[in-house]
Amino acid sequence: MADTLLATTRSAELFARAQNLLPGGVDSPVRAFRAVGGTPRFVARGKGSAIWDVDGNRYIDYLASWGPLIAGHAHPGVVAAVQDAATRGTSYGAPIEAELELAELVKRAFPSIDLVRFVNSGTEATMSALRLARAKTGRDMILKFDGGYHGHVDGLLVQAGSGPLTFGQPDSAGVPAAAASQTLSVAYNDLPAVRAAFEAHAGQIAAVIVEPVAGNMGVVPAEPGFLEHLRSMTREHGALLIFDEVITGFRVAQGGAQERFRITPDLTCLGKILGGGLPVGAYGGRRDIMEQVSPLGPVYQAGTLSGNPLAMAAGIATLRLLTEPGVYAHLEALSARLADGLSAAAASGGVPYTANRVGSMLTGFFCGERVTDYVSAKRADTRRYASFFHAMLARGVYLAPSQFEAGFVSLAHTEADVDATVQAALAAFRASAE
Ligand code: PMP
Repeated sequence: MADTLLATTRSAELFARAQNLLPGGVDSPVRAFRAVGGTPRFVARGKGSAIWDVDGNRYIDYLASWGPLIAGHAHPGVVAAVQDAATRGTSYGAPIEAELELAELVKRAFPSIDLVRFVNSGTEATMSALRLARAKTGRDMILKFDGGYHGHVDGLLVQAGSGPLTFGQPDSAGVPAAAASQTLSVAYNDLPAVRAAFEAHAGQIAAVIVEPVAGNMGVVPAEPGFLEHLRSMTREHGALLIFDEVITGFRVAQGGAQERFRITPDLTCLGKILGGGLPVGAYGGRRDIMEQVSPLGPVYQAGTLSGNPLAMAAGIATLRLLTEPGVYAHLEALSARLADGLSAAAASGGVPYTANRVGSMLTGFFCGERVTDYVSAKRADTRRYASFFHAMLARGVYLAPSQFEAGFVSLAHTEADVDATVQAALAAFRASAE
């Protein structure tokens, strides 16, 4: 992969320095650009829909910090709230009123949540929700979906086995076989496989955990009826339904995918937008389940920085913006304009391309067929994506540095941003075809 970055750039210097400090030069793997090649840009600052790298290049940003920044970078209201909170101290390890304000905003948006516990990341949220589901049901097994990512929890780093009922193998070294053996993984949108798993492991499955719009194999919507059947099957088999709305919460509707598709899960995991760009996750749900959590119940879960004042302030400021009328209709229209523009640009460049979009989360797959699950997502031409990614970067558009990620439109993006992006894509698709 040709890197457009000269070895003399500040980003290249910093990335070289990082090699002796951080594994692979980064604190989270995909940031290292391994999937697209080349040298990651070190970011100096962001404002609204744009980021600037340390060499002064400006990019229209569709990564949005992997989802949280629905209000854009450095939103004045969010910055002011964080600054104001910081003047009163950064952490106390004692209850604060802001936790209640954020919890009230969560409950208003998510009627399925009676009680909520704030944590510090999406990973903590899913890890804790599984522990709780196991405690509540007295069962150990978890059913997830191939290509579903729920953070780096041991038992969730399990991909597909060779068949839907095969016990999963650890995806990561260091995951105990015992942890992986309690996780079943079947194809997304494959209801017969879910049914077969429940039949083969009758009375053993504690919960089904699902991204109600998959976002971590690129965006893959649930097919009509899929979530409804997960709801009825989990009920029938005495398992809990956990919606991992870390991406979709406050993204595809204020009340997440459960509002958009009118399904009530037993437990919900939140993160990303909830913290407005600061480290916050949460899990919540029905009172009788959440009452199992310590100090009310026997399920232990805690955090030194949980409910952190700066994080609560950023979350409150962000969620308040999302209660303004017309916010989601605006995001929908702008995102449709982007997805349609990119599809038209790909068509004019003769590039096989499938745009998957739900609200303001979207992925353009470099393949001609429908993408409905992990297997079909993997048919995408990742080399062509890499070439497109770099061609866009060179034209001032920052996309996710992997084909299998979502792009995000924020309230800070404008029609002019979207139109400039589509213009850049016209040239980039042609470049990627060469
Ligand atoms: N669940 C989903 C659906 C996610 O997309 C992610 C992160 N991308 C996580 C959980 C884990 O969140 P975190 O990275 O904050 O631990």
